Amino acid sequence: MRLIDGKGIAKEIRSELRQWIAEHKKERPPGLLFILVGEDPSSRLYVEMKGRGCREVGIFSKVVALPEEVSQQGLIDQIQHANQDPHIDGLIVQQPLPPNLSLFQVMESVDPQKDVDGFHPINMGRLLIGDVSGLLPCTPLGILTLLKRSHIQVEGREVVVVGRSHIVGKPMAALLMQKGEGRNATVTVAHRASRDLASICYRADILIAAVGSPQLIKKEMVKEGAVVIDVGMNRLSDHRLVGDVDFSEVSEKCSAITPVPGGVGPMTIATLLANTFLSYCRREGIEVEGVKCGLMAGDYSQWDPHYLTNR
Ligand code: NAD
Repeated sequence: MRLIDGKGIAKEIRSELRQWIAEHKKERPPGLLFILVGEDPSSRLYVEMKGRGCREVGIFSKVVALPEEVSQQGLIDQIQHANQDPHIDGLIVQQPLPPNLSLFQVMESVDPQKDVDGFHPINMGRLLIGDVSGLLPCTPLGILTLLKRSHIQVEGREVVVVGRSHIVGKPMAALLMQKGEGRNATVTVAHRASRDLASICYRADILIAAVGSPQLIKKEMVKEGAVVIDVGMNRLSDHRLVGDVDFSEVSEKCSAITPVPGGVGPMTIATLLANTFLSYCRREGIEVEGVKCGLMAGDYSQWDPHYLTNR
């Protein structure tokens, strides 16, 4: 069994980005703004980690913290302010939001050009029609990059994605089924209402678990030799962080697996930094090999954007 080193690959990407940014930066650095609503400790931690990543590669970042009671209009005013700010290339409204706020309205208020999370309906729509001029969601794009840099073949293989969220499952499936090198997979999406999850998972050459249920995926659900990507980040009552996969038993059966922590998480952050740099390049009219076509830094430069359709 091979451990897929997300931490190491993310470090490589951050170092490439640091170099690119140092070489291509104009008068101002790329800028990323986080809008944080309320006091959720995990959200605070994620924003801190992303901010650290920004500092490491030379992206300027700023946090706007809003109280839990902020109104829908109050939040949208802040988003619109950031949309207009010339120093800001990327804008993230950290999720989850308090339940009284409309997530759809919030996602639609972000300027699609600054939508480095890739959640705006225009960017999601572009992904679905095979137009790579948009920004792509960080976790799925990070996973695709992880597979590519770990030399794991995706084309023509059976991939099962467990989970159908707009953050991971849906865009993951859409990316994997795209026509194009490094994708072209046969994709099945399973979710809470799927019947017989075990036999669906067992079909997978590559199994991607994005469920949010600690150690749900057991060894009898995994085919011998499969590749397993564990997106889950679940905090147990003893404070241990575990994935959606029962690592100790599944790792005995699969050919490669991502650990938690140190697998998908660092790739999500590295991809966010790459998306911010991509947005900066587009806004500043900079052409950098590898970021031209809106896919991951350094990895997809050889792909012709006109070829990338859903046909
Ligand atoms: P979500 O709650 O929005 O979606 C979970 C999905 O899992 C749903 O579509 C649901 O139908 C499905 N599901 C739930 N229970 C199931 C079951 N028993 N069988 C089959 N399907 C089931 O969650 P999300 O935002 O997609 O995140 C999923 C997990 O990934 C969480 O643990 C989250 O913390 C983690 N996550 C990690 C990263 C990262 O960078 N590593 C990024 C995003 C999310």
